[in-house]
Amino acid sequence: MSVLPTDSLATPRFCGVPTFMRLPQATSLEGLDAAIIGLPSDSGAPFRTGARFAPNAVRAMSIMLRPINPYRGGINVFERLRVADAGDAAVVPGYLEETLAQIETAVRALAQAGLTPFGIGGDHSVTLAELRAVAATHGPLALIQFDSHSDTWDSYFAGKKYSAGTPFRRGVEEGIIDPSHSIQIGMRGSLFAPDDVSQSLDLGYEVVTTDAMFEMGLPALAQHIAARTAGRPAFLTFDLDFVDPAAAPGVQTPESGGPNARETLALLRALKDINLVGADVVELSPGFDQPAQITALLAATVMAELIALRADR
Ligand code: MN
Ligand code: MN
Repeated sequence: MSVLPTDSLATPRFCGVPTFMRLPQATSLEGLDAAIIGLPSDSGAPFRTGARFAPNAVRAMSIMLRPINPYRGGINVFERLRVADAGDAAVVPGYLEETLAQIETAVRALAQAGLTPFGIGGDHSVTLAELRAVAATHGPLALIQFDSHSDTWDSYFAGKKYSAGTPFRRGVEEGIIDPSHSIQIGMRGSLFAPDDVSQSLDLGYEVVTTDAMFEMGLPALAQHIAARTAGRPAFLTFDLDFVDPAAAPGVQTPESGGPNARETLALLRALKDINLVGADVVELSPGFDQPAQITALLAATVMAELIALRADR
């Protein structure tokens, strides 16, 4: 039996308790293929805080989205994939390692039950906890990271190892990311040190800068991502600062000169043949997204495209 969103032709979108895309709220995991889970932590944010408010901001704008995806043959995503909104993971504001442990526990329950978790961050530190949880079920993961930053620094502030700037070094060190099947896309802008990009290459990642992305062309890049991750379960993480700040102003660390919303969605819609076992959309900071919530709308739209990619498998 399908698990369908509330019909917005029957009751207006603004009615009811907001869940992602008006999906049912999960009361049990039985019979589900995937679940939305909010990860409301900004305890790892080096710059703008506020991502703790992102899951509900994304849910609030996601009520605009409809179930048919015309970019994948007009499928009704939710007739293919049974998805519900599992609410939010517990967090401990100000205590990052405790927060990561709580998030790992919450996501692990979904992965162990055979569901694909779709996380709404949170700053990018939360992805390390999701990767730990999903790798516990699926083994080392191919990471597909959309981001204007590599997030592979060793430490941040007084030698601290956990931060939104370090998860993809920690993940390689912990053996939960297979860098030889992983790819980072969208890096650009000024650097802390001349070797900021080479530190990702030294870890074994492939790095596609924003400039290289447009030189390669979006359809070719989409094919290349599938080839790079082939043979591995893949986790896709989408940091909203991948997108130009004109289209995504409400982020923790904006970076000028990125793709616009249309180019971003075109790339995601071109992805196929990826064995997606988990995904997230992170780094929305709703307080900087006023007055029109365009970053939250884009975050919801990106998430819907990732669910469609999973449904299209
Ligand atoms: Mn990031
Ligand atoms: Mn970033």
